Amino acid sequence: MNREPMRIQCCVCGRIRIEDEWRLVAAEAETRHSHGYCPDCYEKTMTELAARLSGKTLQMAS
Ligand SMILES: [Zn+2]
Repeated sequence: MNREPMRIQCCVCGRIRIEDEWRLVAAEAETRHSHGYCPDCYEKTMTELAARLSGKTLQMAS
C-alpha cells in the first residue's frame, strides 16, 4: 500500500511541512499540498490582522 503523507504548504513563505518540520523545498510543485500557514507566518498574519481589525474598530468607534 502506498501511503501518502499529508503535506501542508505555507501560502506565505512557501515552506512545506514534512514530518513536523517546515522545509523550503523547491521541486515539489507537482505534489498535492493543502495550503495553510506555518507557525511563523500564522502568528505574523494573525498579529497583523488583529492590529488591522483593532485599528478599524477604533476608527469606527470614534
Ligand atoms: Zn510560512
